[in-house]
Amino acid sequence: MAIVKVAINGYGTIGKRVADAVDAQDDMEVVGVTKTGPSFGCEMAVRKNFDIYCTSDDPEMIRTFDSSPFDCRGGLRDLLAISDVVIDCSPGKMGKENLEKYVEAGIKSIFQGGEKHSLTGLSYTSCANHSENFGAESTRVVSCNTTGLSRTLVPLYEHCGSLKVECTMIRRAADPGDSKKGPINAIKPVLKVPSHHGPDVMTVKPEIEINSLAVAVPTTIMHLHAIIADLPEGHGLSTESIIEMWKETPRVIVMNGEGNRITTTAEVMEMARDIGRKWGDLHEIFVWEDGVRLVGNRLYYFQAIHQESDVIPENIDCIRALMEIEENWENSVKKTDEAIARYYNI
Ligand code: NAD
Repeated sequence: MAIVKVAINGYGTIGKRVADAVDAQDDMEVVGVTKTGPSFGCEMAVRKNFDIYCTSDDPEMIRTFDSSPFDCRGGLRDLLAISDVVIDCSPGKMGKENLEKYVEAGIKSIFQGGEKHSLTGLSYTSCANHSENFGAESTRVVSCNTTGLSRTLVPLYEHCGSLKVECTMIRRAADPGDSKKGPINAIKPVLKVPSHHGPDVMTVKPEIEINSLAVAVPTTIMHLHAIIADLPEGHGLSTESIIEMWKETPRVIVMNGEGNRITTTAEVMEMARDIGRKWGDLHEIFVWEDGVRLVGNRLYYFQAIHQESDVIPENIDCIRALMEIEENWENSVKKTDEAIARYYNI
């Protein structure tokens, strides 16, 4: 089996994590990562033995590396020429321009949630539509919020056959390493209602009827979702059986909040740091067991999302879908997660 050659375009919050996750697998390898210019992020690429390329093909931008300790192998075009697939981890809204470059290079591409579904006409979440993406040329791994919603709603939908959902996304204002965003002392509602977050689930599972509201709050570590889902008559589920279902669901952690004294996102992230993945990442969606309650046909629950990392393993499964390596999503998830656990010795 040929090893898939993966380019990472944009070695920032998502890009550096995806690079490590690719490096952890035995059926793919990182052939290079891009940086706009020499910066502290290059240090890590060097330590990991990832070749560095410039995000641009402009010789002047490439030359900015000359006076730095970092060896730049060339521009984006040079990297794409030796790759089978590129993971676009550039800041959102650069997709259109970048897609043209990937098409020109004749390689497959995976975008992130900052881009619109319309860019590729296809989106991806491991549990929702792996097979729909099998062999595709280009797709988009949905955002951290949409990935989180899919992880708990898709298994519910698969059981019930229909689902109507209303949810509120309580969003972190900025990532921990981001000094430009806010608010730092306010709660900021998204006034375009419903917000795009919930309906985005329908790009991977159109059968789930879902709407959302969103607010940003002054925290950097997680998003929290407050979810109300209406199940159809005759669903045959109870609060306990839903909890059991999620305990069996890959990349979902269900824990009793009061019993484990893990009642806020701060403790959830402290537990994530204890697990031992780099950057204290939590790839799993965290559901508070004691915050789940089915009343008649209406289900209430809370879940927390580590925004910087839940989409990372999805990118790996997505490579396997596009490159037609593994048709079964559950097999891919198992392979991805076991390899990442071995990589970090956990
Ligand atoms: P980031 O700003 O941390 O990293 C982006 C990187 O791309 C930076 O290193 C930047 O230097 C580089 N870059 C700048 N111009 C570029 C160009 N022209 N071509 C390639 N790279 C360029 O951003 P991020 O948080 O990693 O977000 C990347 C994508 O992932 C966005 O679509 C975002 O919406 C999505 N996403 C982010 C999060 C999150 O919480 N950070 C979660 C899920 C999805």
